[in-house]
Amino acid sequence: MSNTDPNQPYDMFIVGGGINGCGIARDAAGRGLSVALAEKDDLAQATSSASTKLFHGGLRYLEYFEFRLVREALIERENLLVAMPHISWPMRFVLPYHPDMRFESETPTSKLLSTVMPWMKGQRPGWLLRLGLFMYDHLGGRKILPGTKTLDLREAKEGKPLKDKFETAYEYSDCWVEDSRLVVLNARDAAARGAKIMTRSKVVSATSANGIWTVTTKDQNSGETQEFQAKMLINAGGPWVENIIHDVADMRTKEGIRLVRGSHIVTKKLFDHDKAYFFQGEDGRIIFAIPYEEDYTLIGTTDADHEDISQPPECTPEEQKYLCDFASNYFKTPVSEQDILWTYSGVRPLYDDNASSSTAATREYVLKLNESADAPALNIFGGKITTYRRLAESAIAKCAHFFPHIQGEWTARVPLPGGDFPHDGRDTLIEKLKANSTFLDEKTARRLIKAYGTDALTIFSGIESENQAGEHFGHGIYACELDWVVDKEWVQTAEDYLWRRTKMGLRTSAAEADKIARYIAQR
Ligand SMILES: Cc1cc2nc3c(=O)[nH]c(=O)nc-3n(C[C@H](O)[C@H](O)[C@H](O)COP(=O)(O)OP(=O)(O)OC[C@H]3O[C@@H](n4cnc5c(N)ncnc54)[C@H](O)[C@@H]3O)c2cc1C
Repeated sequence: MSNTDPNQPYDMFIVGGGINGCGIARDAAGRGLSVALAEKDDLAQATSSASTKLFHGGLRYLEYFEFRLVREALIERENLLVAMPHISWPMRFVLPYHPDMRFESETPTSKLLSTVMPWMKGQRPGWLLRLGLFMYDHLGGRKILPGTKTLDLREAKEGKPLKDKFETAYEYSDCWVEDSRLVVLNARDAAARGAKIMTRSKVVSATSANGIWTVTTKDQNSGETQEFQAKMLINAGGPWVENIIHDVADMRTKEGIRLVRGSHIVTKKLFDHDKAYFFQGEDGRIIFAIPYEEDYTLIGTTDADHEDISQPPECTPEEQKYLCDFASNYFKTPVSEQDILWTYSGVRPLYDDNASSSTAATREYVLKLNESADAPALNIFGGKITTYRRLAESAIAKCAHFFPHIQGEWTARVPLPGGDFPHDGRDTLIEKLKANSTFLDEKTARRLIKAYGTDALTIFSGIESENQAGEHFGHGIYACELDWVVDKEWVQTAEDYLWRRTKMGLRTSAAEADKIARYIAQR
């Protein structure tokens, strides 16, 4: 329900346009609440575009006995696949096994094993991996995703790029998701259900009196300030959650966050199949090497404490070397810093549970209702992309008693914009798009369907020849697509389009990016 009466306060004012803010906005708007959301930069500009982009249970969290989190995330994978078959798809993970593999010594499993079997101290034996994968297969009630199998790497194509010492691997299922598109599609659906979504609007203060918040936003382009009233404040500021608690809203809390940076590197394609690798390191950590954007490989991630959020996270030379060395322990052809085409980094806003290492800090989310001010607020700590929908449900459950007329849960398996087609129907949609707009090559049609789903048919509706699609900016980017992202997806700059609504920034030259920037600016 939109708030058309300026004298009426919104039910909820959400600070932060990452996945948690946008997921809550969608859910709340769909239950009949009036919702406003302010994001200080672009949607998903912070952590929610910097993830490893997996809808996963998190195999390694089993070693930390995080069974609730893993089970919730495993169940959720298939709910999400069904609701967004354009931006998410099943992926197989190949986990090579070698007897040299080591645990991080601080995990509860490692400690337990070295107590009951002291001769196994520090080792991560094959039978334990199989046990973990058995649990992974069965904790979450799979219907769509296939289960674990064993691969003989001496025979299988997945063994070819790897060093000969790796003879066996376990292959299991998880899912890929386009993280920044997930955010914008939640924002679009929230807006379609009446929510007011504002980007480049920084919340500079929130004060409360008589049960109502007065929230002041500052437009980052014009500098203008605006005031909004709301019955409830939702703090979904991710890495800035503490800053909002103390500096913006002046709340009192005991909770804190731990900022843990994770970096990724992107290289040209290192192997010729569509499965990902799960590599275990000598330090007990793990990294992934994932097929990325058709022509590239994504390698990550690292874990490093990030003390100061005012410093933008960057992949340091040490992290680049660490990831190259880690992957080179597995690939026959070593990966070096010269192979790196792009890097990105994000900061995990983890709930501070006083864990000793950044790797061990809990990935659970914690939701804390705060009534220390004159109106209620909900502070959100931690979370994963995979559990965003469940987090939104839990967040609203915590606030429901303030809204007697609120409707029930509704988001499970309900398609996001463009996702209204069967989970295995993408190829049919690609053919349909090509039949309608015959000038689109296979690669472009595939990219468009994977980004916009059935909305790609709307973007190209009635466009049968290239000149009807408007100016061509190279690499299958036409003006009609840029018009769509400006009109429907809050794109204001070339970077919004090239690096968040898409990853076309990997392919475009500086001159092409300039041309796109000029087109977007004149729109
Ligand atoms: C390296 C890495 C890899 C990861 N991989 C995975 C993975 O594979 N799978 C998975 O499930 N999860 C993964 N995660 C976790 C996941 O990315 C995060 O949990 C999630 O993105 C956090 O979302 P958020 O909305 O809380 O935070 P954010 O996305 O950071 O959003 C918070 C937003 O609040 C805005 N904001 C802050 N202050 C203000 C203000 N005053 N006014 C207005 N706006 C404000 C910020 O600009 C920001 O956009 C990964 C995280 C990292 C860092």
